[in-house]
Amino acid sequence: MASYVASLMEEVKAKNPAEPEFHQAVHEVAESLALVFEKRPEYRSAKILERIIEPERVIIFRVPWVNDRGEVQVNRGFRIEMNSAIGPYKGGLRFHPSVNLGLLKFLAFEQVFKNALTTLPMGGGKGGSDFDPKGKSDMEVMRFCQSFMIELFRHIGPDTDVPAGDIGVGGREIGFLFGQYKRLANEFTGVLTGKGLNWGGSLIRPQATGYGSVYFAAEMLGTRGETLEGKTCLVSGSGNVAQYTVEKILDMGGKPVTLSDSTGYVFDDAGIDRDKLAFVMDLKNQRRGRIKEYAEKYKSAVYVDVDPKRDHDPLWDHKADCAFPSATQNEINAKDAANLLKNGVYVVSEGANMPTVPEGVLQFLDAKILYGPGKAANAGGVATSGLEMSQNSMRFAWSREEVDQKLHTIMKNIHARCAAVAQEFGTPGNYVTGANIAGFMKVADAMLDQGVV
Ligand code: NDP
Repeated sequence: MASYVASLMEEVKAKNPAEPEFHQAVHEVAESLALVFEKRPEYRSAKILERIIEPERVIIFRVPWVNDRGEVQVNRGFRIEMNSAIGPYKGGLRFHPSVNLGLLKFLAFEQVFKNALTTLPMGGGKGGSDFDPKGKSDMEVMRFCQSFMIELFRHIGPDTDVPAGDIGVGGREIGFLFGQYKRLANEFTGVLTGKGLNWGGSLIRPQATGYGSVYFAAEMLGTRGETLEGKTCLVSGSGNVAQYTVEKILDMGGKPVTLSDSTGYVFDDAGIDRDKLAFVMDLKNQRRGRIKEYAEKYKSAVYVDVDPKRDHDPLWDHKADCAFPSATQNEINAKDAANLLKNGVYVVSEGANMPTVPEGVLQFLDAKILYGPGKAANAGGVATSGLEMSQNSMRFAWSREEVDQKLHTIMKNIHARCAAVAQEFGTPGNYVTGANIAGFMKVADAMLDQGVV
């Protein structure tokens, strides 16, 4: 089986050159699946994994727009429609200068398995642009979003492909995108999720990824008869996922002590309480400032700049019990993983997608800590997007408590399913194999039923 994975990876690299994140994501899944292929050879003969690796459709388009100085700007737009075996394509849009084809293919690939784990009928997709919303005026962001949607609208629809937010795409951007879709399609449908509450959005959707990742951590701790009460928690990022991760840690009695952005991080030994979190939410969501201002306001905190010459991220080098990486891919390198273990961290719940490099994942698995990989731990966001789709279809809205309850139940079920499958395939406690195999089998069985398409 090792030779199958090796030859598959050779082919993936040859066919998809210069896409390191995509190679990394495929390799991790393929390694886990070696356990399945021995029991279910029909998956191999039907070339299920080879088909899942190949996107059903990739759309790349020009996004021209005019900035406030009247200058023409050109960005590149993407939508990867990866797999629709169990439902319409579903996955976020990322606006960040680092966006390219390979990055979005990795995210779309992960999304296929994650969406399957939620138990809701959603296929996998991802999209975005190399546009950087940072430093742009609201009018510039609006003109960009409108131009982006002028092309994207012909490829999406409530039963075809339903995008959502991701890095750089929050409530403001979803509003501009939805407004333009509605104008072009001349219909009011649930074509995007993460919408505003008074025009079709779901309560708890903004909170869902962060809350879900903390619910997942609580479930993992539950297997050892423990809770988050009194636990010191390291959180990275300060965007959507990080903010609501901090909020839910506080709800559960934990003590968050760090937050970051792409320029640096803050460590607050006194803990980030609700007032401080409100300050961060205003700083990041309204004033769109830098996390450094936190340490200027709260003297209990220290701020450390990013230094590209460092071989590790000092955020992960503090004494703690739990870590919630919630910024971006590969933000925990091998040295960071070693530092986390050295500092006593024994719970890692990934709010971000693939935030730990493969060598780091191996260290966590070898140390037998409670490690929840992103495709399971952060599935609460897309699950609640699925709940938003259901509410839109029913033209009905559930209460905050109802949605939160459903989200909590989904996260418990994802945890239970990953744990059970890991056990069934001989890797008890390994949520990586559990998530990869459980997600894969649901999609694979649907593909077998539907023939060679
Ligand atoms: P936001 O744009 O709201 O926040 C992202 C945060 O991460 C910001 O603090 C940002 O800092 C920081 N960040 C982004 N890129 C980098 C980088 N290259 N280096 C250092 N810091 C960086 O995004 P989200 O909170 O929505 O997303 C965070 C992660 O969670 C991503 O991996 C995303 O894919 C994942 N995720 C999000 C879901 C959602 O529902 N939103 C669902 C599932 C997963 P700065 O502002 O300086 O760029």
